[in-house]
Amino acid sequence: MSVWPPKTDNGGQPPFKYPFSFAHRSVYGGGWTRQVTVRDFAISIKMAGVQMRLIRGGVRELHWHVQSEWAYTISGTCRITAVDQEGRAFIDDVSAGDLWLFPGGIPHSIQGIGKEGCFFLLVFNDGNFNEFTTFLLSDWMRHIPKDVLAKNFEVPASTFGNLTHEELYIFPAQLPRSLLTEQQEVSQETGFVPETYAFFASQMPPNVTRLGGEVRIVDARNFPITSTGNISAAIVTLKPGGLRELHWHPNDDEWTYFVKGKARMGVFAAAEMARTMNFQEGDVGYIPISQPHWIENIGDEDVIFLEVFPTRYFEDVSLAQWLAHTPSRLVNQHISTGEAFITSIEKFKAVIRPL
Ligand code: MN
Ligand code: MN
Repeated sequence: MSVWPPKTDNGGQPPFKYPFSFAHRSVYGGGWTRQVTVRDFAISIKMAGVQMRLIRGGVRELHWHVQSEWAYTISGTCRITAVDQEGRAFIDDVSAGDLWLFPGGIPHSIQGIGKEGCFFLLVFNDGNFNEFTTFLLSDWMRHIPKDVLAKNFEVPASTFGNLTHEELYIFPAQLPRSLLTEQQEVSQETGFVPETYAFFASQMPPNVTRLGGEVRIVDARNFPITSTGNISAAIVTLKPGGLRELHWHPNDDEWTYFVKGKARMGVFAAAEMARTMNFQEGDVGYIPISQPHWIENIGDEDVIFLEVFPTRYFEDVSLAQWLAHTPSRLVNQHISTGEAFITSIEKFKAVIRPL
């Protein structure tokens, strides 16, 4: 909310926040899902998000879609599978804090296997993505003539007599066999995908550690499939009072997701337009390319949020670093702080304050 804005707010900037709790929740036997797309959230042109909960054993049906899928596991454990263009297999188990990236068109599935299944966030590199119009295995199969299926697999048409006539989509199912057993089965003859689709961010040391929090960056530098999937991210923890420093992203729009805590974000949209809004668990933010912004922890517990980009590489420009590397006389003639302050600014990128 921006009920009591700071006096620095000004102008008619449209909202850059949409809570998942505003989205309709579609409930199935195996779990539930809801989405935030450009159809609900006008500013979010380049990315859309989906929350999904799968019960223990619950399966998100084998499917694919045009867009790439980047995912962050919020709680529980998921068994994920995929197969690439060369028939090479991928299968792994991811838990809270871990993520995956399936490039567009790669067929995949997700199953809840934790004690209470799993809960995760999906991000797609197109604001127009629609979770309810993906290519489903069972949907396609039942729209293919049985004689064509028979010819395709060179078996009798009766093989396909039990195809379901109802959508599976998210359904309760038997638990999978052990990861090792399933890995051995699916990799026969073709082996595994050369670049894994899973990334165990929960075990990654931070790129940046400050008194005010820490940041983990996951992009093509440490997760090679990002070069194909084109979605990168920063996973940020802010301690109470911590600030994600004044910055902007020169390479693309930011899709922000608040995993936990209470935060405040201020965005400047040029032409004297500035707006401040509060965020909490389950809220989405969206910041157009190069609009400068800051995020502050205003609660008394840690804030965890994700900055997601439809790019191969994470990039940001820091206000402090810009000023620190510009002649102090020139800067002082803009902001009148005195040159002593300008020359004292750290030359490295802070990312988070306090240092
Ligand atoms: Mn998918
Ligand atoms: Mn940012």
